[in-house]
Amino acid sequence: MTNSNEYQVLLYYKYVPVEDPVEYASEHLQFCNNLELKGRILVAHEGINGTVSGTVEQTNKYMETMHNDPRFADMEFKIDPHDGHAFKKMHVRPRNELVSLRLEDDINPNQATGQYFEPKEFFEAMQDENTIVLDARNDYEYDLGHFRGAIRPDIEAFRELPEWVEQNKHLIEGKRILTYCTGGIRCEKFSGWLLKEGFEDVAQLHGGIVTYGKDPEVQGELWDGRCYVFDERISVPINKKDHVIVGEDYFDGRACERYVNCANPECNKQIICSEENEHKYMRGCSHECRTSPRNMYVKEHNLSEDAIQQRLKVIEDEKVKQEA
Ligand SMILES: [Zn+2]
Repeated sequence: MTNSNEYQVLLYYKYVPVEDPVEYASEHLQFCNNLELKGRILVAHEGINGTVSGTVEQTNKYMETMHNDPRFADMEFKIDPHDGHAFKKMHVRPRNELVSLRLEDDINPNQATGQYFEPKEFFEAMQDENTIVLDARNDYEYDLGHFRGAIRPDIEAFRELPEWVEQNKHLIEGKRILTYCTGGIRCEKFSGWLLKEGFEDVAQLHGGIVTYGKDPEVQGELWDGRCYVFDERISVPINKKDHVIVGEDYFDGRACERYVNCANPECNKQIICSEENEHKYMRGCSHECRTSPRNMYVKEHNLSEDAIQQRLKVIEDEKVKQEA
């Protein structure tokens, strides 16, 4: 018997041909709604990529049904216990690609992909001198947590990664390249692309960071900070042995692991920011965002024009003091 108050978050993908993604997506949405799941699922000709939340019973039923489909019979699910839903709605969307790399010559990970390293193997390989560890995620994900010593490509979206590699070849040439991402799906393609580009020794972390954090032996060792996830949890812990904070507050640089979105909906930039600074800066990443007529923080807190001016003055006075 499982308690119906216990929830789970599932993360999964599978590169396998799906004949009619549009039709599959619409049927699958119906199926997920019937199960009362919430989450986000992408379906493409090349496969499926999803993350959903639900009670233990609902999510178990989902996994069972998926495993009964020959296409997804061996699909691996990463399961995280949670205290409720991690999404507000249920979306299943047809897409051209599961992860947006937009290569002219697309990669099929079933034909070309880097070697799979299990957590223990990855942990050991990372410590080898002739190895470089390359983060295959976006800059804001890296900034909240990453493997110790990993290279941070300064990209805001996955599709920028190939160009970054071409411009930074000197950093990784002649080395064994280890790549990693949240659940493994991005590395499947990215490591395949690296091989195609002529890099010979390429390996990827099988199951991604979340699996690494659950491994009973490595227990997330050598991971610093938290792992960014694309649901309401925003981040999850990984290193069970020694947790180090690497996130820095956008405003004062102090150690911080709290992500918020800029309150100006036209900006919406993700910034690491303490609760204290959220109030002080009205959750605005710049003066323009703080004074935007659409600032959500101002609306949420019903700030009067006087109150706004007072806070702006505090920020301005501080700036003057610092510059003096
Ligand atoms: Zn902003």
